[in-house]
Parts: sequence; structure tokens; C-alpha cells
Amino acid sequence: MRTRAAIMFEANTPLVVEEIELLPPGPGEARVRIEAAGVCHSDLHWMLGHAGTPLPVVLGHEGCGVVEEVGAGVTSVQPGQRCVFILRPNCGRCEYCTVGRPMLCNGRTNPDGTLFDGTTRIRRLNGDIVYHYGRISCFAEHAILPEEQLLPTGDGIAPDRAALVGCAVITGFGAVMNTAKIEVGSDVAVIGCGGIGLNVIAAAHMLGARRLIAVDIDERHLRFAREFGATDAIDARSGDVVAAIRAASDGQGPHYAFDAYGSPRTMEQAFACVRAGGTAVQIGLAPEGAVGSISPFDLALSEKTLKGSFMGSSRPRVDMPRLLDLYRLGRLDLDRLVTRTYALDEINEAYDDLQRGVLARGVITMGG
Ligand SMILES: [Zn+2]
Ligand SMILES: [Zn+2]
Repeated sequence: MRTRAAIMFEANTPLVVEEIELLPPGPGEARVRIEAAGVCHSDLHWMLGHAGTPLPVVLGHEGCGVVEEVGAGVTSVQPGQRCVFILRPNCGRCEYCTVGRPMLCNGRTNPDGTLFDGTTRIRRLNGDIVYHYGRISCFAEHAILPEEQLLPTGDGIAPDRAALVGCAVITGFGAVMNTAKIEVGSDVAVIGCGGIGLNVIAAAHMLGARRLIAVDIDERHLRFAREFGATDAIDARSGDVVAAIRAASDGQGPHYAFDAYGSPRTMEQAFACVRAGGTAVQIGLAPEGAVGSISPFDLALSEKTLKGSFMGSSRPRVDMPRLLDLYRLGRLDLDRLVTRTYALDEINEAYDDLQRGVLARGVITMGG
């Protein structure tokens, strides 16, 4: 079928929205009419050439849409169902899937930029192949996804809210509830208060953090962080960030610190600021190859822990329905996270705004 998509032809050039031909879904795949796609920082790494992917490509991984057609053998979704997208598929059979860590699944691999059969379903109108991204590619009006990356949302949630659950919300909440498993009354610092950081703050607030220390370089982000439960706000441009975080937490430092920004420097700050026995969690992605330093002396004597968290160490089919239900119960605030919506044709403007520091999350909504 003919549809439209935002294509990246090369890094550091604007995306081009154009008509494409989408081939029918193969076995185990579904065609989805995309309703909403989050403007996530991770896509920006590819746009800026921080990491490689086959080109041209349709990016977009945080999204929501309605299943329109299913390929042979699809049993878990039906046409008409609204689904949120799961970035990481899982085979259900490898060691990681078996021990409950599906984000690390290594049982299903496919060449970069293709679906599981090693081919793509996206063509330019001249017949040229266009690659997929994460088998999602939701910066488009339609996409072909494997059924295992589709999770029905149920009723009562608007697509631009549901989309965020697929990346920003699961990443932020998961880092707190799955990776760190914070205790009631613990002190928590969060470096970087964009879409992910706000969800870390919301999760730590929900799980009973005592001092909840927000760190950012943008005063508007810090004010917004307070609305999500931060008790302290530290402007990272003014003075010694680590000393300021410690001062806000009994002078000893928090029990947990999260780097939601993603750079060697912020990783080092998160590790340095936690108290002895504390845990620093790395969430944000730095450019591939960037390296930070940790003191072995400090690491040993202080018994600190440094943990990575990918997509919130989540089990999507357990965690996402729970988060969607918390929203329906009025206990998870997704409404305030969406601060701006864009049409697909405005996608370059959306990413310019992201780089200028848009509050919380911008969302691209299709056909509306
Ligand atoms: Zn994302
Ligand atoms: Zn697996």
C-alpha cells in the first residue's frame, strides 16, 4: 500500500517526509496504522550520526497504533486493536528470557535494519529499499511490525499517552522499580529531567523516596520536576553538582542516583554523589564509544554499585499493562508529560525543539 514516512537519508540532514510503498505483512507480522510517535532522544543519536544504522531508514521507536491487517500465523493481535510498541522483542527461550530479563534477549537476531526474515517491507516509489529501525519505524503513517513487538493497550487511553509507555515511561519507571528497586524512605538523585528523568522522578515519588533531588541545566525543567515530586532542584551550571546533591541528602549523598542524561560526566557525577553502599544507575545513552572513569579505590572502599538499565530492565508484558492500568486509575500522570504535539510533516521542527530543550515529551500525531 501507499503511505507516508519520514526518511533519514544521511546523518545530520533533515528527515524527508515522502510517499512510500509498504509491502504486505509477512508471517508473524502485522500492518499497523500509526497514531502517535514520541519524539525520543534515542532517535536523535542516529540522526546526529552518533551510532550507525543502514540507510536510508525510517526511525521512530516509541509509538502506538491500530492493527489493520495481520500476516499468516499471527495469533496475539487482531485488526482493530490499539497497541503500544515494544522496542526489544524476546524469544522466550534463551537464558535471559528464561530468567526474566527479556531486555537482554539474544535469541532473536536479524540483520540491522530488517525484519526477522532479513528483508524490509519499505520501498521508495522508485523501488529503492528503505530500512526499518528496531522493527518499528513509527515515524510513518503505517508500519509493519512483528507481532511480538505489539502489546494491546485496552480501552481508555489516548494514543499520544499510550505511546510514551513504550519508551519514556517504561524506561524511567523500570529503572526505579526493576533496576534499582528503591526502598521507601530512600534518597534519590536524578540527573537530567527530560522525558525519561521526569518518569524516574514520578516513579521514585510513587515508591516513597524521601529527598528527591532533581538536577538539570534548564530552570524550566527543574520547575517541572518539582511538579512531578522533586523535593530539591539543583542547577547543574552553578558550582559543584556532586557537593550540592550530597548537601541536599544529609551531607552523605543519596542512596540512589540515576543518570537520565547520558554522558561520561553525568555518569561520573551519579557514581560520585551516592553515599557509601549506594547505587548509581546509568539510563541515558552517551554517543557510542564515549568513555567515563570510575575510581577503583572509591568503588572498593565505598562498596558502591554502578548498574546499567536498558528499557527499565523491564518485562514489557508484565510492566506495561500495569503502568497502563495505573494511568487508568488516575495514579500515573501521562497527561502532563505530553507538552506539545506535531504533525508528521513537522518532524524536523520537533527534533529542533528537542535539542532546544522541550519540556517533557513532544509527540507526533498522525493524520490529526
Ligand atoms: Zn526512546
Ligand atoms: Zn530470548
